[in-house]
Amino acid sequence: MKDLCLHALDVAKQKGATYADARIVKLRNQYIVTEDKRVSAIQDSDSIGIGVRVIADGAWGFAASASLEKGEVERVAAQAVEIAKASALAPAPDGIRWASEPAHEGGFKTPLKKDPFKVALEDKIGLLLGVSKAVLAVKGVKKCHGYMHFKGEHRYLASTEGSMIESDTVTSSAQYRATAVDETTAKTRYFEAHPMNVGYEHIEATPLLENAQRVGEEAVAQLTGKPCPVGKKDLILHPSHLALTMHESIGHATELDRVLGMEESLAGSSFATIDKLGNLKYGSPIMNIICDNTMPFGLATKGYDDDGVEGQKWHVIKDGILVDYMTGREVCHAIEAERSRGSCRADSWASIPIVRQSNIGLAPGMEQLTLEELIADTKDGIYIEGMGSFSIDQKRQNFQFGGDCFWEIKDGKKGAILKDVTYQAITTEFWGSLDAICDKRFWTPYGVMNCGKGDPMQIAQMTHGSAPARFRQIDVGGATK
Ligand SMILES: [Zn+2]
Repeated sequence: MKDLCLHALDVAKQKGATYADARIVKLRNQYIVTEDKRVSAIQDSDSIGIGVRVIADGAWGFAASASLEKGEVERVAAQAVEIAKASALAPAPDGIRWASEPAHEGGFKTPLKKDPFKVALEDKIGLLLGVSKAVLAVKGVKKCHGYMHFKGEHRYLASTEGSMIESDTVTSSAQYRATAVDETTAKTRYFEAHPMNVGYEHIEATPLLENAQRVGEEAVAQLTGKPCPVGKKDLILHPSHLALTMHESIGHATELDRVLGMEESLAGSSFATIDKLGNLKYGSPIMNIICDNTMPFGLATKGYDDDGVEGQKWHVIKDGILVDYMTGREVCHAIEAERSRGSCRADSWASIPIVRQSNIGLAPGMEQLTLEELIADTKDGIYIEGMGSFSIDQKRQNFQFGGDCFWEIKDGKKGAILKDVTYQAITTEFWGSLDAICDKRFWTPYGVMNCGKGDPMQIAQMTHGSAPARFRQIDVGGATK
């Protein structure tokens, strides 16, 4: 594989490329899906191919193929150069400014105790159907959907700068969802072994079966839950919920290609423009948002990004102020950064790398604080777990979120289950109202598997972590789940 990558680079150089990288990627995805007492789908697919990206005559070219025959690799490399030369007929006004990066010869491998692809299908199905049986035993639960998803990616990346990188990552996840139904409505509740770059030991260590009865009962309880109040409430958000709020209102808003207007598809663009760098009050002074592509088990942790830049850890928001972005080598010059933050990834051998969210998280509170103490300190609020519906505008400024399960907080006590809770806010006002974060003992990472971006769309993965946190006086109600 390495030789094929190097051969592609030689051909590209001979044809006139001044820079080239070649990526051979082998992907495998296994899905096991259950519905009630049966298996409804098993899908196991793999794909392998090469993508060659070049700069020639000051413009980009990219070509890819699912064949790794030597002649085909030569054709793809030559085609990438041909495309670049054609693109050079209509050059970008400022040309390409490609940030430098040392050549890396290195590798990265997800630490695995148990390779999920070597675990028997019968064992995986047995676990899902066992959970399903326990969920369906709860009175009022009418459906149980479950799935497991395992993803493997083996990548070789070589560049004309002398980098030769090999990575081997494996992602494991499982989830089930209980649905309770009465005469007029249906309510759901889920539980998961959240997506992590780790082996099957993650699935085995997650108490999937032990939570089945509670999850079923909470789905049923939502049927008769109190309606969402309308007005201002203090929100306490669990990390399983906050992951999505962070993803949408901070993660996408701080991707530098969106900020620069280079990415407008799928709610593109951002309000956090570069004139605000260093002075925008994104949130309260206790808000620290840290990107970390070195995070153990993180979905964006793969040693090096697809620009060949080493994984890094940095603040995008420090003490509430916007201080940096997620960048790639082509765009980082816009903020006068000499080095990319290493946030460019492609979702397959057939895709070009684009700026993607790194693993990002809200730093935990500095003082000891448990969720119970935070609830005890809250007079009139709502506690939210899990991800639900969301909507956000193309500037990432004005949003609405639902959730998976909601509880009333009255006079410091977690009370009745509520239903159909939604909250609405402006990004900076919402994060500005953050006044308490539990400490690092409660910091928990949650993986996002289906982040869509680009045109044609690419699907990327990343991890968002936080501890439970409180947001004061947020508008709730006024919409249905
Ligand atoms: Zn996304």
